[in-house]
Amino acid sequence: MDYSSLGKLLRSAQQDEAEAKRRRLTLYFISYVGGTIMAFMAWLNVGNNTPLLVGTLTASAAVVYINVLLSHIFPRVDVFYYVGGLVAMFTVNGLVYTGGLNNTGLYFVFPLLFLQIIVVRFRPALIYVSVTLAITTFMLYNQENIIAQYSDEHVSRFLISTLCFVCVAFIGENFWHQSRKEMLKENFERMRQANTDPLTKLPNRRFLEAVFFEKAMQDPATYFPLSAVVVDIDHFKKINDSYGHDVGDQVLIHVTSLMKEAVRSSDVVARTGGEEFLVLFPHATLTQAVKLAETMRRLIEERPFVAGDINHPITASFGVATALTDTNLHASLKQADDNLYKAKNAGRNRVME
Ligand code: GH3
Ligand code: MG
Ligand code: MG
Repeated sequence: MDYSSLGKLLRSAQQDEAEAKRRRLTLYFISYVGGTIMAFMAWLNVGNNTPLLVGTLTASAAVVYINVLLSHIFPRVDVFYYVGGLVAMFTVNGLVYTGGLNNTGLYFVFPLLFLQIIVVRFRPALIYVSVTLAITTFMLYNQENIIAQYSDEHVSRFLISTLCFVCVAFIGENFWHQSRKEMLKENFERMRQANTDPLTKLPNRRFLEAVFFEKAMQDPATYFPLSAVVVDIDHFKKINDSYGHDVGDQVLIHVTSLMKEAVRSSDVVARTGGEEFLVLFPHATLTQAVKLAETMRRLIEERPFVAGDINHPITASFGVATALTDTNLHASLKQADDNLYKAKNAGRNRVME
């Protein structure tokens, strides 16, 4: 598996719940409270001979409720947040237009703008807030077209305080997003290190267990049948004993590059122990995996380790097994291990299935 695919898998395993939760709860708040207020206002106006107002409020409340209910059903879909932002825009301008109760509607503009910034997030929020305030400003300076009446002092003070409020809100949001980004980056780097073997740069056992197998379980159709090949270098101790530990390390790097050469980009080569590796072939049958293992075996046998005066033949033994479904993954890993021992006992430098 190439570096960027591994990075992608790691990134998808990274927990970034805080921002999602903040946004989600804000949407719920804006929707349930806002929707209820709209429905209540519609009910208050029933019988006042204002069918347009009642109809608009009822329809708006319905849109708000349907939107938030859909966001429960499809929690990963972004569009509901943008609709939430539009609802905030509509409500702000509705309040400015009608004046709310005794022209007090302007007070509610501040919390609504803040909720809008959170649900649609920083960059789109710049557009949403600009549009919202452009409409508001237009109405405030063309009061002959609206129901509410605001004095000049109210208008100018309101716009100045809104501008201050919006600037502070965006500064706060900007720092929240920046610090979150830096934290995620650091966290990702720590995760990458914890999941990588420092010598061969291969993913390690922790990566397989905490990331790869988790991912495979979540998306079995993409990964199964999942074939596993356990690889163990033959008589590796002898290499260490004859040439020293550093040369042993170089041999591990050499074998790593040969195995990577033999597999496909969707396959994972991981170092699971001293001179032991686990190669995983997603969506591969036992026959395909045995073939790939045989390719690896041959490549390792054909390319001895050469460094300075040293020219040492290397061989490895292979145990193969296939998990047809996610339920027998662990059993098949055990089976691959057992098959490796069979290969060792049968004389090494061979593939056993
Ligand atoms: P077999 O064919 O049965 O697998 O024999 P072997 O010698 O390969 O296996 P054994 O388990 O007896 O020895 C493995 C050796 O690998 C022992 C250990 O010192 C060495 N080893 C483990 N990790 C490393 C490492 O990171 N670098 C080096 N150079 N050697 C290591
Ligand atoms: Mg060995
Ligand atoms: Mg071993």
